[in-house]
Amino acid sequence: MKNADRTTTPTAGSRAPKQGRAKGQGQWALGHREPLNANEQFKKDDNPLNVRARIIDRYQYTGFDSIDPNDLRGRFRWMGIYTQRKPGISGGQTAVLDPNELDDKYFMMRIRSDGGQLSGEQLRAIAEVSTTYARDTADVTDRQNIQLHWVRIEDVPAIWERIEAVGLSSLEACGDSPRVVLGSPVAGIAADEIVDGTPAIREIVRRYIGDPEFANLPRKFKSAVSGSPAMDVAHEVNDLSFIGVVHPEHGPGFDVWVGGGLSTNPMLAQRLGVWVPLEDVPDVWAAVISVFRDYGYRRLRNRARLKFLVADWGVERFREVVETEYLHRKLIDGPAPETPGPGFRDHLGVHAQKDGNFYVGFAPLVGRLNGTLLSKIADLADEYGTGRVRLTAEQKVLILDVAEDKVSALTGALESLDLQVRPSPFRRQTMACTGIEYCKLAIVETKGRAGALVRELERRLPEFRTPLTINMNGCPNSCARSQVADIGLKGVLVPGPDGEMVEGFQVHLGGSLGIDAGFGRKLRGLKVSSAELDDYVERVLRRYLAQRTEGERFAA
Ligand code: SF4
Repeated sequence: MKNADRTTTPTAGSRAPKQGRAKGQGQWALGHREPLNANEQFKKDDNPLNVRARIIDRYQYTGFDSIDPNDLRGRFRWMGIYTQRKPGISGGQTAVLDPNELDDKYFMMRIRSDGGQLSGEQLRAIAEVSTTYARDTADVTDRQNIQLHWVRIEDVPAIWERIEAVGLSSLEACGDSPRVVLGSPVAGIAADEIVDGTPAIREIVRRYIGDPEFANLPRKFKSAVSGSPAMDVAHEVNDLSFIGVVHPEHGPGFDVWVGGGLSTNPMLAQRLGVWVPLEDVPDVWAAVISVFRDYGYRRLRNRARLKFLVADWGVERFREVVETEYLHRKLIDGPAPETPGPGFRDHLGVHAQKDGNFYVGFAPLVGRLNGTLLSKIADLADEYGTGRVRLTAEQKVLILDVAEDKVSALTGALESLDLQVRPSPFRRQTMACTGIEYCKLAIVETKGRAGALVRELERRLPEFRTPLTINMNGCPNSCARSQVADIGLKGVLVPGPDGEMVEGFQVHLGGSLGIDAGFGRKLRGLKVSSAELDDYVERVLRRYLAQRTEGERFAA
């Protein structure tokens, strides 16, 4: 933990308010420093990083009911912990109840794994805290985190002690802060890698995670570094991404994308048009996040993402501000990376590493794991590899460094745990967010529903082998990227057979990432109840199978 007493006043970019400007959107750099909403107020009242000391020194002993509400529902997020939803509260009550009434006395804890890289020792530590303190829960998320549930405030310091002893942390895994930095799951091992981004990710984490300079952002900041030609970090929907590219004069480095994001007003990231060498990535990362901190809109939470600033300014002006006000030098113009063709970019299956070993990628059903399984995965990684494990940005897992003559035995061992190495397209590419089981914003159940849908589609359509993404969200927030799925399912309430409101989904069709990146079309009136979902998706897929032309993809 870095010193939280340092000022959060920006060191660059401060500007006096300009005469004649509109009242302002709470942009610090334009002089609008007075908090404009409750979130800005509690961040100003006390640096959120200071809440760690209160958890350790006070709350673990005084218990849930003693927690200051601004810590409980505000600053705790900077420590990667959220209150989880009280069981038994329906989706219909989500909007009408006071949010405080949705709080359970237990927490979700998000453990960050920057770059998705875990050692066997780290995996075992997570497994141990899961089984000891979190009722054996452990989901892998589409941002390469692992989420525990049922955590008590009394146990938080003990969990930190255990995971920090092996180099893990929940610091700034949530909150208006720099979230986990995504990385290619095959960084450093793939034969086709353009550049290994791991040193840059490590340096960003070392310098800036827990740095008070970046602990009061307008809202969350999602970033990624991948030197894989597979573009395997969903760069289109991050606030900032560095994507591997070869410059004709300067060699391997990174192309920079800014301003992507989903949820309401989804936007695809845009290229800054610059080439950045590996060693400069942390400085450019800091410059971009500084622009967000100083110029980002703080008045309205739903406009407080970097994408709105990039959309309003345009990338040319954004680049100019990065260069002139923060880096104080020009960046090198760079070429666009080649977008890979359609298909899978998730690294599942068995693949050769550049050192002659193999990596084996497998699919837990909709990212659902648990501590017991994590422990078994750690054992397998030790027995068949060197203990190294990677998480993907699609809720999947890889075991690295497997000798060729051990691949078959490892594959069999994983399959016996229902961790499939050659899964159906449905299991391979269906993701689900946390949903009503734990999330206070959820309107519908997701993990169990999506898992049941996968099993049912596997039973009904065993012949279906085309790549197809089905992403299910419990509310409009799009944590599981429903807006860029072939079939995107957004949780809503719909009229049931007797007129009562029941759980269902607004359907979006034809979204994708990659070569045809774009948002799915929300078909007017196309809502389906949760009970009818299997039949609906089967009908859509059978129609596609019957009507497609040779080679036609689902998204086409
Ligand atoms: Fe919760 Fe909505 Fe995000 Fe799902 S999409 S985890 S329901 S906020």
